[in-house]
Amino acid sequence: MKKLGKLYEGKAKVLYETDDPNLLVQYFKDDATAFNAGKKGVIGDKGVVNNKVSERIFKYLSENGVKSHFVERLDDREMLVKRLEIIQVEVIVRNVAAGSIARRMGVEEGTELKDTIVEFCYKSDELGDPFINEYVIRAFGLASDDEVRVMTETALKVNELLTRFFDERGIVLVDFKLEFGRHNGEVLLGDEITPDGCRLWEKGTLEKLDKDRFRRDLGKIEEAYAEVLRKVME
Ligand code: C5P
Repeated sequence: MKKLGKLYEGKAKVLYETDDPNLLVQYFKDDATAFNAGKKGVIGDKGVVNNKVSERIFKYLSENGVKSHFVERLDDREMLVKRLEIIQVEVIVRNVAAGSIARRMGVEEGTELKDTIVEFCYKSDELGDPFINEYVIRAFGLASDDEVRVMTETALKVNELLTRFFDERGIVLVDFKLEFGRHNGEVLLGDEITPDGCRLWEKGTLEKLDKDRFRRDLGKIEEAYAEVLRKVME
């Protein structure tokens, strides 16, 4: 496999084409953004940590029947992935109220939920990823009803698997964001699963081990990311 030119550069990752039209190289940067890129910075070695955390989690999910774009990790910052046609819908799953839903509903962060929440957002940097629902998805043709069903079921299965996975490692999976894409007629999990897109709280102390440390200037960001890598490798 030969790495070719840059296909797309996002806020935290770069995608490169390869000599196989079905495969891309996903490169993880140290760049961090928050509040729709209103805040920018660098988290030392984040790219290396996120590449390895994603590899571990995608492999764990695959062993448990959840298909993703992950093929193999190539080196510290790169993984080989299947080329996806990204569905412009972000799927958010929540187990505990935090972040935007705590603000929206006027409750304290950490408030217990009576049931798991699945939310959809329109993947658009210009618009700041606005909240949408199944009717908006259908009316704007963002995804078919079948795709929405697959994304919802997969997100709930990922939640079940990862809640247990993190719990066994002393971490509460508070919430997370998933992205999906189409590949040869299938809907696959894409993007990354890392402390950039998950809220991870240490069990007991509820110390934040995720990007909220960067968003909220809580310090010890690199340490938190390294701790997540150490724990997921257990
Ligand atoms: O900000 P909010 O509370 O809606 O975020 C919910 C979860 O989704 C958090 O874990 C956050 O890191 C993730 N998220 C993300 N990218 C976005 C929006 C949310 O990774 N554009």
